[in-house]
Amino acid sequence: MSEVTRSLPGLFPDELERLVVSWGEPAYRGRQIFHNIHRRGILDPSVMTDLPLGLRTRLVKAGSEPVRRLRSIDGLTSKLLLRSHDGQEIEVVEMKTAPAGEPASRKTICVSTQAGCAMGCVFCVTGQFGFARNLEAGEIVEQVLRFSTPTEPVSNVVFMGMGEPLANYGESLRAIRLLTHPDGLRLGARRITLSTSGLVPQMRRLADEHLQIGLAVSLHAAKDELRSSLMPVNRRWPIGEVLAAADYYVERTGRRVSFEYTLMAGVNDADEQADDLAHLLYGRLCHVNLIPLNPSEDASLHASSTQRALAFEARLRHAGIAATIRVNRGRDILAACGQLRLAERKRRERLPPLPLGEGWGEGGERGRTSAATSAPSPALRAV
Ligand code: SAH
Ligand code: SF4
Repeated sequence: MSEVTRSLPGLFPDELERLVVSWGEPAYRGRQIFHNIHRRGILDPSVMTDLPLGLRTRLVKAGSEPVRRLRSIDGLTSKLLLRSHDGQEIEVVEMKTAPAGEPASRKTICVSTQAGCAMGCVFCVTGQFGFARNLEAGEIVEQVLRFSTPTEPVSNVVFMGMGEPLANYGESLRAIRLLTHPDGLRLGARRITLSTSGLVPQMRRLADEHLQIGLAVSLHAAKDELRSSLMPVNRRWPIGEVLAAADYYVERTGRRVSFEYTLMAGVNDADEQADDLAHLLYGRLCHVNLIPLNPSEDASLHASSTQRALAFEARLRHAGIAATIRVNRGRDILAACGQLRLAERKRRERLPPLPLGEGWGEGGERGRTSAATSAPSPALRAV
């Protein structure tokens, strides 16, 4: 095992077996623990009643505790703030949708992979916090398990919360392997999407893993000068290298890559910039997700108008590029990661702790979340 100190949800069945055997228990107890955690979603060993009491008391409870839970007025989106054993705050978002043409509704969980992020993208609240530490695989999996119920299992997981998953490569991959484990949640790899700001060597490495997960690449600009000003990582790996790595991913996996493009008024949303993007991506097996900007710390950045977003989308489509505008609620899931933590910090400076489960729109969150979850324009579609 690596040097990472693992919580129980971060261990595979064979590792749990070795652990319990080292305590003088039979190996099958290890598989039982895995089943309890990953199939039944039991994170507290004291209620794993199929285990002997002596073993239950030896197992250490999973690391983080829920601090705050918010639910949108329509009940479809929930956010959970967890506090880890060392006081790090981790955001998780759940989004329920009923996509047209699909028999069952979807429950998508947006997970964080790091506490903070070192990449420093100017439009991102998490980026402006700076980096605290990598999350351990168990801490990533636990975010999913907290939303999984026997009657409403999780159907999709997106690595689009706080942090750069490919900067925490080993633990993100381990989390993916735990989530897809046949004795656990059994999530299909195709139902997992990992989003990256474009760490080229890790993108190539991921392509060689023989996984069928989806890859989303945050592009946000078609020209290096602009992208570098928005995303410092572009100075290290410019657009040409990122696209070459994305092409390699398509080549190795046969899966279409999506490009995320957050629309910022007057920054990257002009017709000419849509044409540059279409030119850049032409002929590629890809899809562009246009994301209206969520409020960020940089007061000079604003979301593009709906009209501008639609014009940008139309221009891409006219040029033969598959593109969709992500609805506000979906977008909210991404960028609101970071915002809840920020709101909680501001709240703590002013208020005593609040109980879990209060409605959305409470206190300092009201203005931001209610605006972000208001009914989207009928012209905007979910992806
Ligand atoms: N670090 C990874 C994954 C987490 S961020 C990445 O950057 O891809 C997930 C997505 O949210 C990225 O596409 C990111 O650019 C976008 N995002 C960040 N801040 C945002 C904001 N304020 N408004 C809209 N999208 C934002
Ligand atoms: Fe990090 Fe992604 Fe935010 Fe950039 S957008 S700072 S890579 S979390």
